Formats: sequence, structure tokens, C-alpha cells
Amino acid sequence: MTLALSGHRVEDGIAVGRAHVLQRNEIEIGEFKIGRKRVAAEIERLRRAVADARENLSALAERLQAAAGASASEIIRTHVMMLEDSSLLDGAIAHIEKDLCNAEWAMQLQLEALLTEFRAIDDDYIRSRADDAAQVVRLVQNTLTDEGGEEPLSDVPDRLGHTLVVATELTPGEMAILHERGVAGVITEHGSPYSHTAILARGMGIPTVMGVRRAQSLITEGEQLIMDGHYGVVFADPEESILRHYLQKQSESVRFRQALDSLRERPAASLDACEIRLMANAERPDDMRQAMADGAGGVGLYRSEFLFMSGEPPDEEAQLAQYREALKALGGAPLTIRTLDIGADKTADLLDFQSLRSNPNPALGLRAVRLCLREVELFKIQLRAILRASALGPVRMLIPMLTTAREARAVRSLLAETRAELDQAGIAYDPAMPMGGMIEVPAAALSLEAFANDLDFVSIGTNDLIQYLVAADRVDEHVAHLYDPQHPGVVHLLSHVFDTAARLQLPLAVCGEIAGDRRYTRLLLAMGLTEFSVQPRALLEVKKVINETDIGRVRDAMHRWREGDGQDRFPTLVQYLDDAQFHG
Ligand code: PEP
Ligand code: MG
Repeated sequence: MTLALSGHRVEDGIAVGRAHVLQRNEIEIGEFKIGRKRVAAEIERLRRAVADARENLSALAERLQAAAGASASEIIRTHVMMLEDSSLLDGAIAHIEKDLCNAEWAMQLQLEALLTEFRAIDDDYIRSRADDAAQVVRLVQNTLTDEGGEEPLSDVPDRLGHTLVVATELTPGEMAILHERGVAGVITEHGSPYSHTAILARGMGIPTVMGVRRAQSLITEGEQLIMDGHYGVVFADPEESILRHYLQKQSESVRFRQALDSLRERPAASLDACEIRLMANAERPDDMRQAMADGAGGVGLYRSEFLFMSGEPPDEEAQLAQYREALKALGGAPLTIRTLDIGADKTADLLDFQSLRSNPNPALGLRAVRLCLREVELFKIQLRAILRASALGPVRMLIPMLTTAREARAVRSLLAETRAELDQAGIAYDPAMPMGGMIEVPAAALSLEAFANDLDFVSIGTNDLIQYLVAADRVDEHVAHLYDPQHPGVVHLLSHVFDTAARLQLPLAVCGEIAGDRRYTRLLLAMGLTEFSVQPRALLEVKKVINETDIGRVRDAMHRWREGDGQDRFPTLVQYLDDAQFHG
């Protein structure tokens, strides 16, 4: 009888095959007291284990570079870097010396200290780095227990074609090894869609569902499985009709992917010959190169806060070096650098602003431009770096979370001040560098006219705009059902912004996740969007929908819907528009 299980969607795709339940003898980390005389030997044992783990991971990163591309291997290198970071090893050594405990336990204590720091930070990205720290420590503990023995997953078969691996949790390194062995799909009991393991699965295109509770006990070895990555569901021992349905869907999806490949060179033009600008949301030069190969017109959103998320805030030269690399990867296409968008809690820990530590509601607090306008010294370092980058290639600057036009004017005057300083020092910059603003606060969206004189372009951050509109935290799974881009209030506000921007002749893009979600492409086109900025892997999918849409036709349909047509026949506006495109 069919057993249906669900989890978090990580990577789309349908996988059909047999289950391989990963048996891992979870190592028990216990505490042993060691005598003073053993301290030096224990420290040496720990150093050796860290070195072995690092060597194994570096070798894997090398292999991946060739097999799965640079970005996949970079993720593994992040783990190598964590192993090289002295705070992990030094902290553990201090525990051995102070508590006279074994190396495994010392790593555990050091991990707990790190996790306490990470948990205090209200940010998905940082929280997912906590997963990375835990994985790296587990790797060292495993190596200590094996005494440098086997490679990870040495008990898993070499060829995993038509096999879905069911695990408690996986490290990025293990995910990469499963990819090397041709795994058809991966199901894990734990793990967040924001983790590096998840990012890697997406980068390598492995259909994956995470957070499937008790998967290891509910699924039996060798059992027939179907995974629908798009919906985050897994069927064990499916009935014949379900199997037939999915085999058919699987071959359709293979054809879909092949069709996408052929779109690389095609322009992003609609059936009625409207040219759409497709940009990428990217920070890593490799992703930028890939995006350009897929036909992106440049980067529409470079989230500069990623440079500030670990360690010391980068100085002007370090920021400039990153922007220079990005411009090089883009080969003359524009780079839209968003100024620092960090929130109260993140800032507190990373930049040590004591006064911000206890903000109870960071999403509504001193974040993004609000913070930059208060920490002017920090902000001006970034403005100098951005201006200097503008002398090296086409740079556009984008300000996050604008609420009032006064904020935009304050940034303009800081920019003018910074330019004057650069002039004095004889440092080059582009005096015509465009300055845009993100529309992600509802009050700003409703008063776009007020910004028109102070901004050269706008980009709608729907991720935040929607969360503020429907009052549902974008990262809280308990209210995820309310986070709906098709909510009539959301559609109404977006249409209003699009119409106002068109009237004001203010160039407008959307850079929130919905721009890269092909389910909403036609809706955005119908509302009048002409510039999308999307995660690189979504470029071709979005281009495909653009190529298959008659914008005039869906725009008319949109007007009819707003007058009440079709609301009794179609559950959603998106379905109504699809019907108008194909049957209207
Ligand atoms: C947004 O809010 O839509 C956006 C693009 O910015 P971020 O996701 O970085 O907040
Ligand atoms: Mg935002």
C-alpha cells in the first residue's frame, strides 16, 4: 500500500527507484578525563584528525571541480576553510588543556559554544552556517573515532543509478559523493533548505527532499520509491497507477530540461515580440559567468551583505577587490550592487553594535538603509568602494528598504560628499553612476511618486514586500500558508507600482524570488513587468515562459479578471492567465 511522506522542497525533479537506507553508526561522543601527561598527545591526535579531514575534503573539492563545476567545489572548500580557521581548533585545544578531556569531547564543547553564538542571530543565512559548523565538527569527530580510517560513505555502493538514498542528515561532502555515484534522489530526515547541503543539491540538480520525519524508520531497504521534488513528497511502495503517472511526468520533465538547453542563445522575447530584460541575482563570479552564458543581461542584484557575514567587516580595498572580480566576470555587463542590507540582530553580533542587541522585532527595526544612515562611517567606506568600482565598469547602486524619499536624499548627499573626497584625492569614479532604490516597504510602494526625483531606477523586493503586506514572517514555516504572491492585496499593490513606474517613466525591475519562479512569470508579464532579476538557475525556465507568452493577450485577460471575469471558474489568477494564453 502506498505510503506518502512529505518534507521541505529543495530541488525539483522526479526520481523513481529503490531505497537505500543509509546506515550510519552514529558515533556516541563521550567525555573522558585524561591525565596531564596525555594532554600533548591528545592535542596532537586532534591536529592529525583535522589535517586528515581537511585533506579528504580538499581532494573531494578537486574532484568536484571537474565533475560538478566550480560552485559545487567552492561549497566544499568553505568546509575546508572552516577546518583551517584557527578558532575551531584553538578553542578545542583550550578545552583539552583546561578541562583535561578527550579531543572528541573538546570539539563538542567548542561546537556548542559556536552554536550558541549562531543561534542568537536571526538570519537564515547565518543559521545555515551553524549547520556547516556542526557538520565540520562531526567530520573531525568521525575521523578521530576511525583514527583516520575510511572515507565518508565507504559502505555505500559505487553506483547509485536508480537509487534514492534515505539518510538522517548529510554533509555537503556526502551529498557530493552521492552525486559522483549517480544517485537518483536524496531524502533526509533533517536539514534546512537554506543549508549548504541543500544549495549543493540544487547546484548539482539532485532531486532532494529534506525534513521528512522518521523517513529512515518508515522506508525499508530496497523498497520502490517515487520522489516529487517540486512538491517535497515521497511515495513508498506506490500503487501501479501512481507509478505510471510519475514515469510519464519524469519523461516530460527530461524533455523540459532538454528544451531549456536549446534556449541559451535565444532572446528573452515574448510571442508578440516584446523584449524582456533578464538579469541575475548573484554574488559569486562563477554564478555570474554561468548566468551570462545563459543569456543574462548582467547582475540585477548583488547582495553585498554577504561580504560582511563572517569575520571582520571588509575594508574599502577588500570590498573593491570583490566588485572588481564581479565586473570582470560580467565582461562589460552591468553590476547592480545593493548596499549593506543587514538587520538589527545580525549587525549586533557581526559589527558589534551593542545598542542593537536586544531588538525584539528585527524585521521592523534598524536594518538596511536605516542602519547605514546611522552608521555613516561604515556606510561611507562602502560608498567609496562602490564609486571606485564604477570607474572599472558599469556599476549601478541599489539602496535596500527605503521607506521615505528623505532617506534616498540622505544617501544622495552622502554620495556627493564621498565624490568630493575622491575628487580631492584624485581617485576616479563614474559621475553618472545610477542610484536606484528597492521597493519593499508597503508605504514606499504606495508613494512611488515621492521617490521619482531622487532615484534613477527601482527594484521591487517582493520577498520583504509580501511579508510586510500579509504580516507573515518570510522565514516562519507556521505562517507560510499566508505568504501568497497571488493574494489580491499583493497583486493590487504590485500592479499599482508597475503602473505608477510606467507613468513616471521610472525603470523598474523585480528581484524578489517570485521573479525567478516560473509559476509567476506570466502574472508578472501581464502586470507589465519588463525586467526580471532572478537566481541564475532560473534564467532559462523564466525565458521559456516569456517565449511562450503573448503579453498583449495576458494583459487583456488580467483586466478582465480584475473586472470579475473567471473568478468562479478558476481558483487562481495564474491559472486564469495560463488558460487565456493557451485557450483564450
Ligand atoms: C527582497 O526582499 O525581495 C530581496 C530581493 O531582498 P532580500 O531577499 O535580500 O531581503
Ligand atoms: Mg529584501
